[in-house]
Amino acid sequence: MRSKRLPRRRLAEGGLGVEDGDVVTTPAFEEIGHILRGHQRFAILGHVRPDGDALGSQLALALSLQALGKEVRVWNEDGMLEKYSFLPRAELLTKPPSTPEDFDVAIALDTAIQNRLGTALAAVRSAKIWINIDHHISNPGYGNVAYIDTSAPATAEIIFHLIKSQGLPFNRDIAENLYAAISTDTGSFQYPKTSAHTFEIAAELIRAGLDVGRLSQQLYENYPRRRLELLRELLRNMRFQQESHVASFSLTLKAAAELGVLPEDNEGLIDHLRAVRGVIVAVFFEELADGKVRVSMRSKTDAVDVCAICQKFGGGGHTLAAGARLRGTLREAEEQVLKEVCDKVAAHSAPSS
Ligand code: 5GP
Ligand code: MN
Repeated sequence: MRSKRLPRRRLAEGGLGVEDGDVVTTPAFEEIGHILRGHQRFAILGHVRPDGDALGSQLALALSLQALGKEVRVWNEDGMLEKYSFLPRAELLTKPPSTPEDFDVAIALDTAIQNRLGTALAAVRSAKIWINIDHHISNPGYGNVAYIDTSAPATAEIIFHLIKSQGLPFNRDIAENLYAAISTDTGSFQYPKTSAHTFEIAAELIRAGLDVGRLSQQLYENYPRRRLELLRELLRNMRFQQESHVASFSLTLKAAAELGVLPEDNEGLIDHLRAVRGVIVAVFFEELADGKVRVSMRSKTDAVDVCAICQKFGGGGHTLAAGARLRGTLREAEEQVLKEVCDKVAAHSAPSS
């Protein structure tokens, strides 16, 4: 069992209070830095179906702690994804072992609820301290020390501040992992939480010696052909509702098998729907092998909060990007979820029309 040696509390919420300069020091980072320096054995965990932010943040923190002489395990239920396997020291990140291990400190990154750690959670038999570092608004603040900054566009921004403020080891490999994480979670520095500060961090990461052109090519111009074939399949069944304010498409298990696609291939394809003029909410439905349907949602406006919609179905995320997993058939999920989305969009559109 996890001990509750430290009082459970949320250390930060909202902005980091950055004025000028690039080093942010808060009592929270001091406390986390103290824990990191004072222990030896760490598990660094991220959410199932990982994205660039989870993987990059995990590797960056792991490399910094390793350089500090710490023993680290870096686990994710899905292991390292093929498409992110170019990340520096990607081999450090593995699937968790079937025999659980004991740790001084377990750190969950970018993970809104603890059970989204999946088998990585089960692989931690005990940890004296659980640290939870995240930027999801739906994060309840689990763990002994929770640092939740909902203004951060990526968990990697928080990791950058933690490393810099605590004078933890920093090098080009760490910078590349952080840059990849921030670039992917901001939609290449486009989403609304992207701030001047995000660009300042990016500048500092570039100054650490990374090659933006090369890294961006690895991130965005190196997809397997099957990903485009998947997009063709999705566009074939896309539909528009609610005066074309709601766009959606679906992937059946059968189509996924025929195309030979991996789960990671669909990351980002929903952006094609959101990018259409007039679309307010985009929804992607993916039939899963376990009898559930994965729903992925994007919104263009805070007035239609997709996190709130997904929470109704047991999921969560951010105001403009959220997800859930529903039990039942694809048809049932489409009906229930699209009805809820259309109602919310109708309520939003009504006053002005
Ligand atoms: P995506 O649509 O890219 O899978 O996820 C968008 C956001 O919603 C991510 O920040 C992700 O962590 C969150 N999210 C996706 N699916 C779920 C889910 O089933 N439960 C919760 N709590 N969050 C989710
Ligand atoms: Mn993230």
